[in-house]
Amino acid sequence: MAIKRVAVFTSGGDAQGMNAAVRSVVRTALDRGLEVFAIYEGYRGLVDGSDRIREMSWDSVGGILQGGGTVIGTARCEEFRTREGRLVAANNLIKRGIEGLIIIGGDGSLTGANIFRQEWGELVAELVDRGEISADDAAAYPNLLIVGLVGSIDNDFFGTDMTIGTDSALHRITEAVDAIASTAASHQRTFVVKVMGRNCGYLAMMGALACGADWVLIPENPPDVENWQEVMAERLKTGREAGRRDSIVVLAEGARDRDGNYIGSSDVARALEERLGEEVRVTVLGHVQRGGRPSAFDRNLGTLLGYEAVNAIIEAKPEDEPVQVGFKGNRIVRLPLMECVEKTHAVANAVEAKDYEKAMSLRSSSFTEAFQTLRIMVRAIPHTPDPDQKHFRIGMLNAGAPAPGMNTASRAATRLGLDKGHIMLGIYNGFEGMAENEVEELNWMSMGGWASMGGSGLGTSRRIPKGKDLYAIARTIEVNQIDALLVIGGWNGYEAAYKLYTERPNFPAFDIPTICLPASINNNLPGSELSIGADTALNSIVSAVDKIKQSAVATRRCFVVEVMGHWCGYLALLGGLATGAERVYMHEEGVTLSDLQVDVENLSRGFRAGKRLGLMIRNEYANEIYTTGFMCALFEEEGRDLFDVRPAILGHQQQGGDPSPFDRIQATRLARLCLEFLIEECGKRSVRSAFIGLEEGKYKHHDMRDFQRMVDLAYQRPKEQWWLALRDVASLLAKPGPGGS
Ligand code: ADP
Repeated sequence: MAIKRVAVFTSGGDAQGMNAAVRSVVRTALDRGLEVFAIYEGYRGLVDGSDRIREMSWDSVGGILQGGGTVIGTARCEEFRTREGRLVAANNLIKRGIEGLIIIGGDGSLTGANIFRQEWGELVAELVDRGEISADDAAAYPNLLIVGLVGSIDNDFFGTDMTIGTDSALHRITEAVDAIASTAASHQRTFVVKVMGRNCGYLAMMGALACGADWVLIPENPPDVENWQEVMAERLKTGREAGRRDSIVVLAEGARDRDGNYIGSSDVARALEERLGEEVRVTVLGHVQRGGRPSAFDRNLGTLLGYEAVNAIIEAKPEDEPVQVGFKGNRIVRLPLMECVEKTHAVANAVEAKDYEKAMSLRSSSFTEAFQTLRIMVRAIPHTPDPDQKHFRIGMLNAGAPAPGMNTASRAATRLGLDKGHIMLGIYNGFEGMAENEVEELNWMSMGGWASMGGSGLGTSRRIPKGKDLYAIARTIEVNQIDALLVIGGWNGYEAAYKLYTERPNFPAFDIPTICLPASINNNLPGSELSIGADTALNSIVSAVDKIKQSAVATRRCFVVEVMGHWCGYLALLGGLATGAERVYMHEEGVTLSDLQVDVENLSRGFRAGKRLGLMIRNEYANEIYTTGFMCALFEEEGRDLFDVRPAILGHQQQGGDPSPFDRIQATRLARLCLEFLIEECGKRSVRSAFIGLEEGKYKHHDMRDFQRMVDLAYQRPKEQWWLALRDVASLLAKPGPGGS
C-alpha cells in the first residue's frame, strides 16, 4: 500500500542547508500527492506531540532557503533515549497516521532513528497492550519507514562525501583564517586556530589546505613523533626564515597525541611560545562555524537530498531497512543507514582505541590523499632531491578568462613540483606571454599567500595562438628547455593546448607532455564535471540574488537576473536551484515566444494571488534576440499595474573574489594529479597530452585528441552535461505558491 503521510524533522546540532532540505522534502512530498508534517524541535517535538507536529503547505516553506540554522527547530532530547520516550513518540505518530519519517541530523540522531525503527514492532504491541491504540491501528502500522539525511558540519558520516553544512562551515573557517592570516602577516605573528570536529579532522584539514596554513592537528592522525612540539616549532621557524610572514596552526577540537591525550589550543600555544620565544595568539572559532547563510553547495545539497529522500520513502516497501540518502561522486545515492551508522561509530571507536591506522583507513581515499598533500604543502622548504633523479623543467601558465582558484592551483603545482625535485617555470600572461618568452623560474616562496587569492597572479590571456605565435611559442619552449606544460585554464586555454597538440607535425617543440587543468567559472569544459572557479561564481551569484530579493520587500516586483556562462547554463541552473528562482533560461533549452507567454501568464497569476516577488535567472547567451532587456520590457508591459520588472546583470563580479573552499581544495587536488601525469609522461619515449577532470567522483584523464570529439565547438561546451539532469528538481521546487519562492 502506498505511503500517504510523512513527517520531516531536524535533530541534533543545527547545520546550514537544513532549511533547503526541509523545503525540498515538503514540496516534493506535496508534489507527489503526500500529506507532509513537520515535527518542530526534533525528537523533543516527536515526544511532546500536540502542536509540535504540524501539517505543512507549499508556502509554509517559502523564503527559508537562504537562512542558516533550521526554521523547524532542533533540540537534544534525553527522553527519546529511553524506551518510554520512544513509546510516546510511536503513539504520537500512529495517532496522526504518519507512516514514514525523514530525519535530518547527525550520527546521534540517525542512531536514535535506527533504534526506533528496530523497536517499532515491540512499541506498537505495547501500545496495544496498554490500550493506547487498537489492534487495527497496530495492523495498519506494521513498520515505520525511515530515511535519514546527514546534517552535520563535521562531515563525519560514513558513506557520504559531504554532509549538509560542512561546506558552509568551511566557508566560515576560510573567511576567518584568511582574515587572521592578513593580520598575522602584518605583524609576523603566530596564531593557533581551533575548529570544530570531535572525531573528524575534515574541517581542520581542509581548512588548513584551503588557507595555506602551516601545521594541522587532527584526531585521526596524531603527530607520528613523540616530540611533535619540537618538529612543529622548527617547521614554523624555518618557514619564517624562508620568508613566510604568517604562521598558522589549525587544530581540530578532538586533536590528540599518539597516547590519546587531548591537545588543547593553549597546549599548542604554550609549546610554540616556549620554543619560538614570541607571543602566540589563539582563536577558537566555536559556533561561528555553524552560523550564517548556507553556501550555494549546501543549499543545493540539501535540496537534492530532500528530493531523493521523498522518492526513497515512496518507493520503500514496509519490510525495508532504513535508508540514508547521501552524496557520493557528485551524485545522490541511497545507502543502508544501519551500516553507515556502524561504520561511522567505528572511526570514533578506532580513535578512542588509539588505532589511528584503522581510523584513517575508514576515511575515504580522498581524505588520506588530502592529508598527504597537506604534509607537502606545509613544508617550509622542499625535500632535498635525489641526486640520481632527473630534473624536469615544467612550464605552467594560466589561460582563458580568470577563474578563482587559478592561483591556488599554480601555488600547489609549484610546491608539489619543487618538492619532487623539478624546476618550475612560471609563464606569464598566458599563451600571449609564452610567445613573448615571459618565463621565470619559481621558488618555494614565489607564491606565498596565493592559496586564498582570487584572480590570476601569473596573468592570463584569451589568445589562441596561430600563425607566427606558434613559431614564437616553439622558440620559448626550446630556449627554456621546457619538458612539460601545465595549462591552468578555461575554454581558450583548452583550445590553445589542442592547437599546439595538432601542430606537432609542424613544430617538434610541441611534442612535450601537456595537460589542461579545468579552470573556468562557466563550467563548460570537457571531461570535468566541476571546473575550478564555478563554485566561487555560484556563491557570488547566490549572495547577490539574496540581496536583490531583500531589496524587493516593499514592492511587487519581478527580477530578471542575468548570469555568466557563455552558452553553458550551469551557473544559471545551479544558481536558480540555490536561490529558488521560479524560471531559468538557458541556451541548452532555448527560449521561445510561447515560453515567454506562459511565463508572463504564470507571473500575472502569481502576483494576482498575492505573491510579492518574482525571480527569473537568465544565462547571458540564452537567446540572441530575447535579451534580458527584451524580456524585462515584455514582462513589464504585460505586468502593467500588477508588478514591475527590473533587470540585474551581475557581470564581472562573478569572475572575481577569493576562491571558495571547494575551489581551493579542488585546485590543489587537480594540481597534484596534473603534476603526477606530467612527471610520468616526461620519462616516456612517446608522450601523451591530456585534459583532466572529476567525473562521477573519479579523476580521469582524457587524451587531448578527444577534445574535439567531446565538445560542441560552436557553443563551447561539452556534448554531455551531467547537471542537465537536475532540471526536473529545479522546476518542481520552483513552482510558485501564492507567497513566492
Ligand atoms: P547529532 O544528531 O547532531 O549527532 P546528538 O548526538 O546530540 O546530535 O543526538 C541528537 C538527539 O538524537 C539526542 O538528543 C537524542 O534525542 C537522539 N539520540 C541520539 N543518540 C541516541 C540513541 N542512542 N538512542 C536514542 N536516541 C538517540
